[in-house]
Amino acid sequence: AKSAGGNRFETADAEADARAITRHGLTNALPAALERGEFFIEYQPLVHLGDGSVHGAEALVRWCHPQHGVLGPDRFIPLAEHTGLIVPLGRWVLEESVRQARFWQERHSDGGPLRINVNLSPMQLHHPGLVSDTVDVLERAGLEPGALCLEVTESALIGADDDLLKPLRQLAEMGVDIALDDFGTGYSNLANLRRLPVSVLKLDRSFTQSMQQHPADTVDVKIVEGIVSLAHSLSLAVTVEGVETGAQAAQLRELGCDTAQGWYYARPGAPDRIHSLLLADAV
Ligand code: C2E
Ligand code: CA
Ligand code: CA
Ligand code: CA
Repeated sequence: AKSAGGNRFETADAEADARAITRHGLTNALPAALERGEFFIEYQPLVHLGDGSVHGAEALVRWCHPQHGVLGPDRFIPLAEHTGLIVPLGRWVLEESVRQARFWQERHSDGGPLRINVNLSPMQLHHPGLVSDTVDVLERAGLEPGALCLEVTESALIGADDDLLKPLRQLAEMGVDIALDDFGTGYSNLANLRRLPVSVLKLDRSFTQSMQQHPADTVDVKIVEGIVSLAHSLSLAVTVEGVETGAQAAQLRELGCDTAQGWYYARPGAPDRIHSLLLADAV
């Protein structure tokens, strides 16, 4: 507000305006940012709950904006999805992280296959080039399809018809893993899982948060138990995210979850971090 005693509605309007201006500005700046190489990827390890060894890493994109500093994906992925820029941006993330995964593998050939997880937005799912782009990226990097896991949110697949599932099926037939991200937050029918070409359920962070928190409230524990037993009976692996404490890790291991990710193990970081974790595993 301009006047000293300006009313709060003006202030709220001004804030809303400022946010809209920023959104507008960020949206307009996206294409040039991609061309100028302002995006970068942080990697967060996925570990085996059994022994804590590294199973793979999830690629998480960031934008190093010249004025606003480093922006997290929640600030710009929705904008990129809105304008369609998510398609070339997503392709860049895939290419860069697959190349990085191949690089790790070459240096740690003894450490077994290292997996790379890449998030796919709903618009990428609808894009006709998804399968051919993915095949192309894998071939050029020399990475076997089995080392790639594409993460799709549960909500993106709710009510998905066969046309939408076809490219995912093709990728799954090639050996690419498909993970259902944020699992448990949507309304998907568990029986529906049989229809989906997924091989991994990635339990939403909210389940992790309720572990060891309300000892009296065992509902989430029971739900996780049920999900794990169903998943395993369908030969699906269960990954948990957002593990922040050793107690959560212990409980989720006890409940039979397979792999985990979270600050307790490592924050998302530069590729070197994964490299040193793999070195540590090897000794
Ligand atoms: P997501 O796929 O569910 O990724 C997990 C998010 O949880 C990441 O946030 C990660 O940094 C955060 N996280 C990891 N461990 C912990 C923990 O122990 N505690 C807590 N509180 N949080 C943890 P981030 O990096 O801000 O990414 C947010 C979302 O942006 C991702 O959620 C994903 O949906 C989206 N995203 C990130 N990269 C890409 C991308 O390349 N393409 C697309 N389409 N979406 C992306
Ligand atoms: Ca994810
Ligand atoms: Ca998730
Ligand atoms: Ca999420």
